[in-house]
Formats: sequence, C-alpha cells, structure tokens
Amino acid sequence: ARPYLGNPKYTIEVLQKYHFVFQKRFGQNFLIDEHVLEKIIESSGITKDDFILEIGPGIGTMTQYLAEAAREVAAVEIDSSLIPILKDTLKDWDNVSVINNDILKTDIKRIADEKNGGKPVKVVANLPYYITTPIIMGLFEKNVPVDSITVMVQKEVADRMQVGPGTKDYGALSLAVQYYAKPEIVANVPPNCFMPRPKVGSAVIKLTRYEKPPVDVKDEGLMFRLIRASFNQRRKTLVNGIRNSGDFSLSKEEIEDVFNRCDLPLNIRGEALTLEQFAMLANCIYDEKN
Ligand code: SAM
Repeated sequence: ARPYLGNPKYTIEVLQKYHFVFQKRFGQNFLIDEHVLEKIIESSGITKDDFILEIGPGIGTMTQYLAEAAREVAAVEIDSSLIPILKDTLKDWDNVSVINNDILKTDIKRIADEKNGGKPVKVVANLPYYITTPIIMGLFEKNVPVDSITVMVQKEVADRMQVGPGTKDYGALSLAVQYYAKPEIVANVPPNCFMPRPKVGSAVIKLTRYEKPPVDVKDEGLMFRLIRASFNQRRKTLVNGIRNSGDFSLSKEEIEDVFNRCDLPLNIRGEALTLEQFAMLANCIYDEKN
C-alpha cells in the first residue's frame, strides 16, 4: 500500500462516497498537495523508530504518509463523522490508531507513556488554526515528552513564533515558543494546496524542543507574567506596564531599582527586550522580593 490521498482526485472521491460536510468550526482544510505532504514528512525527520502523534487527521491524508514513515502513529480527531472514513482510508496500515477526542482534553502524556514507553514523541499535524496556540503551549507546558513539533499553521502565526525583538510580530508567543524550542519555518504553503481553500496563507514550522531552556530563570511563572504584562500594554514603557499590571507588588522605586541593576533604560518598552533580557529582569525581580 502507498499513500494516495494527497491526490485531490481521491480526496474528492472519499468526500463524495461519505457525503462529508465540512465543519467550519473545526477548522477543516484538508491537504491536497503531494509535494507539501512530502515536505512535511521530510522536514519532521521521522524514522522507523518513531512514534508520531498526529492532531486532527481529517480524512487521513497525512496519516497515510506518517504511517509509511514511522513505527507507529496515534491520531486524535474531534469530528466523529470522520471516524468511519478514517477506518476506510487507513485500512491498509496496521500501525495507526485513531482516537476520537478533543486534543485539548486528551491526556497526551499518557499516550506517550503507553505507546512509547514515556520516550519523547514527535508531533506532526496540519493544525486546526482556531486553537494553534493552546495546542502548542499545552504540549510545552504540560510536561509532555516531545522532541519536535512539525506543524502547518497560519503564516502570520508561524512568523510570530520565529521572530525576535524589533518587529511587529514579536510578542508573548514568540518568547514562549523560543523559551522551549528552536523554531524554523520550513515551507510556505498557499491556499490552493487545501480543500476548501483557507482565507489565509499557511506555513510549516518545525519546533525542536530544547533539552534545557536557553536561559536560566529562577521562577518561570514570574517571567511569563512579566512577558504578559509587557505585551498587554505594548505602547507603554515596561516600567509602567509592570506597575499597571498590579501583579508584582513593587513600588515605583523598587521597579526603577531593579531596572538599574539590570542595566535597562527606564523608558524601554517590553517589545525591545530579548528572551535573555526578560530572564535577567525576572531574576532581578525575584531577588528583590526574596
Ligand atoms: N490532517 C488533515 C489534512 O491535513 O488534510 C486535516 C487537517 S484540518 C486543518 C484540521 C483537523 O483537525 C480537522 O480534521 C478537524 O476536524 C480536526 N480538529 C479540529 N479541532 C480539533 C480538536 N479540538 N481536537 C482534535 N482534532 C480537531
């Protein structure tokens, strides 16, 4: 058996056979481009030893390619009307299991424990765009053993994950992703590679998880609160952002003192700070309070 669904002709056949109705609320845009599928498989670096978690298999297009390349695949799909279709399109592969569930309510750590002996899994997906951020942050924050996440996302979101300070796309998502992983955009994908066509451009981004974060932070929670405070009020100085957030119980003098110790100008905006500087500032605030 070879993958075949990348060919739009077969996708249309399957959709007609099952009278499938696309659900907008589930972000359903199915891939119909073999080159894009091959590019995703190639850049995700899958080997025959790997266990793959796929999020949102749809009618199983990418799942077929994953099943060919990997040892085993588990695919979590929320739409129960797709389950009989997947049973059909994946019948030639015996190394795939389909789980009918909401990925945000799925215990991924347990799947990794049961199916991969707790070893790091690779996540590969053409994500439903309406929940890109909670899916990715959930994978990082919930201590799921993951070694890489190769995903199709909205182009603009891929840019936000990859950029550094000094660009309009830089924000809390950039810093959160870059604290946990090394991001690399591996392909830009136009709307005509999907059925139906999305209104936005897409990109494939690979996030390779660090074994250890690239900066030393005494209190991660404090650093992420600081990042949030800073980008909630993008146009204010960071000193004011910290004061207005009411989240740090520091007086103006204490904040200024912290900035001086970190060698940061008092009028700097959060959007100008690198991850290293946010880490340093969070550590100074931590010391001021402990
Ligand atoms: N992988 C398929 C492909 O590339 O053709 C489909 C990708 S489509 C962009 C996103 C898929 O995620 C859809 O099948 C949709 O039903 C599913 N999905 C949406 N929300 C989900 C959720 N919360 N949990 C699991 N799957 C979800």
